[in-house]
Amino acid sequence: MNIKEKLTLSVGVLVSLIVALVALSVFSLQVLTATDPASPMADYGLTRALVLLLVFGALSIAIGVWMLVKLPQTVARPFQELTQGINEIANHNYDTELNLSGSRELEQLSANFNRMARRLRDYHNSSLSQLRVSKQYIETIIDSIDEPIICIDRNLMLYFINNEALDILNLRREEAVGKSAQDTAMRNDLLRRLLVGMDGHKEPETDEKKTEPLKIYADNKESYFQVKYLPVRMTCSDGSIKESGTVIMLKNITEFHKLDVAKTTFISTIYHELKTPISAILMSQQLLADNRVGGLNPEQKELSDSIRENGERLLSITGELLNMTQVESGALQLKPHITKPIELIDYAIKANQVQADKFHINIEVDYPKEKISKLYVDSEKIAWVLTNLLSNAIRYSSENDRVIIGALQQDEHHVMLYVQDFGRGIDPRYHESIFERYFRVPGTKIQGSGLGLSISRDFVEAHNGTLTVESELGKGSRFIVTLPV
Ligand code: ADP
Repeated sequence: MNIKEKLTLSVGVLVSLIVALVALSVFSLQVLTATDPASPMADYGLTRALVLLLVFGALSIAIGVWMLVKLPQTVARPFQELTQGINEIANHNYDTELNLSGSRELEQLSANFNRMARRLRDYHNSSLSQLRVSKQYIETIIDSIDEPIICIDRNLMLYFINNEALDILNLRREEAVGKSAQDTAMRNDLLRRLLVGMDGHKEPETDEKKTEPLKIYADNKESYFQVKYLPVRMTCSDGSIKESGTVIMLKNITEFHKLDVAKTTFISTIYHELKTPISAILMSQQLLADNRVGGLNPEQKELSDSIRENGERLLSITGELLNMTQVESGALQLKPHITKPIELIDYAIKANQVQADKFHINIEVDYPKEKISKLYVDSEKIAWVLTNLLSNAIRYSSENDRVIIGALQQDEHHVMLYVQDFGRGIDPRYHESIFERYFRVPGTKIQGSGLGLSISRDFVEAHNGTLTVESELGKGSRFIVTLPV
């Protein structure tokens, strides 16, 4: 029987009883009014009418009370069970089953609900196993990469480590994966160094260039690794981006490192081997050009000048290469002492005066009349930087132009030295690249090595200063050195 039939039957019985009660009351009333109250039939009729009314009344009340108590339960109970079942499904408990009985609709509802739960369970299990397979697949790929890779989640748990990384860290998978990176690092020096590096690399992309190679000593040999920290950024369903951890990638650069060391040794050998003969050539040229030794005809003088110019260029290029190797090998040693900025400016002007005169370029000095702080720098290195900047300003200007070299007190703790020209200027696209090794702005015809600015920046940064450029095409350039005092 379904709920509707049940309800109809109950209400029908109740209504019939009430109707019977009313009919009986009316009938009894008629009988009693037609009977002589003094006759014995009147007593009997009254008793019978009362008994019948009591029986029917009691039955109606009993059925009414039964309906009042039972009917809401019959309707509410299945709804409660259904709500509970839906909640269980919402909590991913797909094993929930409904057993509603008492009517066909409820049995049908239970069967449908259970079928839905079964389908959801099957789907859930199959997508879980699919996820597991995909995860395994990705892990196998990362494991087969022969560079060490470590993944740390945002709670600093070691989420994943490939075999190469386990090898160099000298860890076993089971003692690392899923464990706290910090706890593991307490027992592992290398991991500790990597974690310390991670703190300092919130923005690895920009710092990558500066990362010192990581030296690891294992299997009786030294290996060098370039460490890269990649933040894992996940896009949430609301479009916001959430930091979810860090991937540490190590690139084995041992071979490059060996080549680099060989290159550095080679360049410094070449420098020392070339320096003596070049100096000898320059000395001989000086003697040759000296009128006291004997006069030269104009062609001979031209040749002698060409020998001097090329000799000086050779010496400056080999000097730049040596400086570069010093910076790269970490052998750069500063010998700082207190220096007045004007001394550095004077040195740079003297070193460039001949060249400036040759191109009829007027060097102007912009030096403050008021007091300016002294610098505590390796004056040889900073003078080299200013000489190089002034030489560039002259070389990249047109004849009869002017260049300015100056200094000013930037603030209480910094002094600014600058070289400004009004030459060709530099396209903003190259404002950073010109500080890279061997970079020359495309189309530059004037001879050069592309090393001067990069070495200059290294020298300035070794003093905790900065070297920057402001330049506009066709209007000129201003190179600014800021140094702490
Ligand atoms: P080099 O001058 O020997 O090529 P640098 O490292 O000193 O090497 O300069 C790198 C490049 O930057 C130069 O090749 C040139 O294209 C550009 N450059 C440097 N200084 C200036 C300047 N004052 N004006 C215009 N371009 C410049």
